[in-house]
Amino acid sequence: MGIDFSEINILKDPDLFTLRSDYNQFLLSISGPTIIDISGQDQSRTRVFTTLIHGNEPSGLIGLHRWMTSLKGNSRPVTNLRFIICSPESASHAPIFSHRFLEDGMDLNRCFGTELDYGFFERANLIAKAIKEVNPEVVIDLHNTSGFGPAFAVSTNKTELALSLTSLFCSSLILSDIRLGALMEQDFGCEIITIECGAGSDPQAHEIAYFGIEQLTQIDDISSCHFNRNVDVFLQPLRLQIKPGIELHFNDVDEGLSGLTLVNNVEQFNFGIFRKEQMLGWVDSYGLSNLQIIDQYGDDVISEYFELRDNLLISKMDLNIFMATHVKNIAKSDCLLYLIPHKNKLPVD
Ligand SMILES: [Zn+2]
Repeated sequence: MGIDFSEINILKDPDLFTLRSDYNQFLLSISGPTIIDISGQDQSRTRVFTTLIHGNEPSGLIGLHRWMTSLKGNSRPVTNLRFIICSPESASHAPIFSHRFLEDGMDLNRCFGTELDYGFFERANLIAKAIKEVNPEVVIDLHNTSGFGPAFAVSTNKTELALSLTSLFCSSLILSDIRLGALMEQDFGCEIITIECGAGSDPQAHEIAYFGIEQLTQIDDISSCHFNRNVDVFLQPLRLQIKPGIELHFNDVDEGLSGLTLVNNVEQFNFGIFRKEQMLGWVDSYGLSNLQIIDQYGDDVISEYFELRDNLLISKMDLNIFMATHVKNIAKSDCLLYLIPHKNKLPVD
């Protein structure tokens, strides 16, 4: 089935019939990227939520569907809301919610902010235009992580507003200067944060999305929003990648396989601190050159963070690890994990 990349659908204050009996049915009823506009008490302001940029990350859709279907007749959100469901085709491609993007497609969250205007770049441009045209107060981009782990937020700036918005969803904020062509890197003239709600198969992640939406729709002045909880701030994540063409395995023991073997339980490192001298896996005779960590200057700094003990891959410092995943194709094509030196965790202020 060909995709019409110039298509974008709009639903305004959809009724319960349009929203169908559950989020699966609703997803299957929409054919392309879909804007859902909800009228608020104050029609002069709009808050934007984007979701399903990645088709295997359902928490945003589940949260917004639950919120919309539980909205009582007379109760309205404080401001207008614009929800944008970005990649229904990859989400609904069987088995449902299992494709980050279609096999012959591209990762839509690597297609924003370019001069290109065809295919998935055109899709990204349409979504960006749909955000800009409402002059939003804030943009919240809802995602799931591929592996299990606690929820966290990502922003480009540490502002009071970023901390406040984070506190509505979770208690960690990562300040990232990585540029990949993601939605959250774009300038919409307002605060934009990504919320990684946790794993897409984790019901807790759906709750985080729902309650964050629920709270944000009830707060009038976000800038004076009290912090729900303390937020830990982490600086400058780096991406640990396997080099192209290198084999990746997961195992509990070293079987002398070529390339890189990560420990089976790598996702547990998303919780807590990955300590100096802890092991991540095993490498073949090519050692650290199977891997790379490219810093903001374009240099490979893998040897600053990892070393070998025989062929064991060992951390050289305490690290906070995010988005470690056991999903092989994502670990290979995107990255194995994000890491931040534990010393880059700022004290709560
Ligand atoms: Zn995502």
